[in-house]
Amino acid sequence: MLKDSFGRVATDLRVSLTDRCNLRCSYCMPPEGLEWLPKPELLTADEIVRLVTIGVERLGITEVRYTGGEPLLRRELVEIVARTTALRPRPQVSLTTNGIGLDRLAAPLAEAGLDRVNVSLDTLDRDVFIRLAHRDRLADVLSGLDAARRAGLVPVKVNSVLMRGVNDHEAAGLLRYCMEHGYQQRFIEQMPLDAQHGWKREDMVTADEILALLGEEFDLVPADPGERGSAPAELFLVDGGPHTVGVIGSVTRPFCGACDRVRLTADGQIRNCLFAREESDLRAALRSGATDEELAERWTAAVRGKRAGHGIDDPSFLQPARPMSAIGG
Ligand code: SAM
Repeated sequence: MLKDSFGRVATDLRVSLTDRCNLRCSYCMPPEGLEWLPKPELLTADEIVRLVTIGVERLGITEVRYTGGEPLLRRELVEIVARTTALRPRPQVSLTTNGIGLDRLAAPLAEAGLDRVNVSLDTLDRDVFIRLAHRDRLADVLSGLDAARRAGLVPVKVNSVLMRGVNDHEAAGLLRYCMEHGYQQRFIEQMPLDAQHGWKREDMVTADEILALLGEEFDLVPADPGERGSAPAELFLVDGGPHTVGVIGSVTRPFCGACDRVRLTADGQIRNCLFAREESDLRAALRSGATDEELAERWTAAVRGKRAGHGIDDPSFLQPARPMSAIGG
């Protein structure tokens, strides 16, 4: 078991398949992009599957989410998913993606056993999309979403980050679009994880503000809080249900006490938190001939040192050196 010193058990593994992305969302990276990891530093497909197998077979991982960067850019994605869903006990396998290319890949991914997807969509306005993501790809995202639903990768969840003065006027419109198309909408507070280190608390659209914006058009009632478990989203019934909307208040309503996540970066580092300042290098061990048992021991030791919380509200908080795209969101 991956148990930390506070008794939390990590069962949910987030694996970044690449730090590259084909969008430049301003809350994540600058318009010119970043210096990507050199290929030899990335885990190969075999290395990823070996570590995931150790996680599932020896360490109690029950959920694997592939992310990035943009995981659809990883050429071996379908193969990696198929090899993950073939593991026993069979983990739940999901994907967080910007949706670009999903129109082509949704069916093969479903066939490989992928259970569901989260697609990021911050706006339904083409001009706002270009301003926010610096690419003219809104139509590709929307067709990717549609393909995911048709392929049965359900529930299709839509992740949206609201930015003040950019897309915060679209909260209700995004929720309405999701309800009409059968997607589950979730709003995420903007976190201090951008490569440019431009995050400002006063610019963040808080969970309270998101609820107030939605409340102007919808009647929201908390869904049964007993069902939340370790899920980061607080769920609300919209207009009496059955539709729900999730609000992820990572900054103002942290859920660290129930966190069951552990992350593996594209270059083989174990991280206990998006905001961790420490990483444990599994790649070096793996490439110098460590056995599965030794890798499992290193991983277990890394999780033991997980901190109590992300500490964003602590005066000593420092933004992690690596941006979200490199950690795997
Ligand atoms: N490229 C994929 C995507 O767009 O979903 C996967 C990686 S992306 C880093 C994962 C999620 O993190 C996206 O929903 C994105 O909106 C979110 N994200 C990125 N930077 C963020 C930030 N600073 N605060 C909050 N969410 C962020």
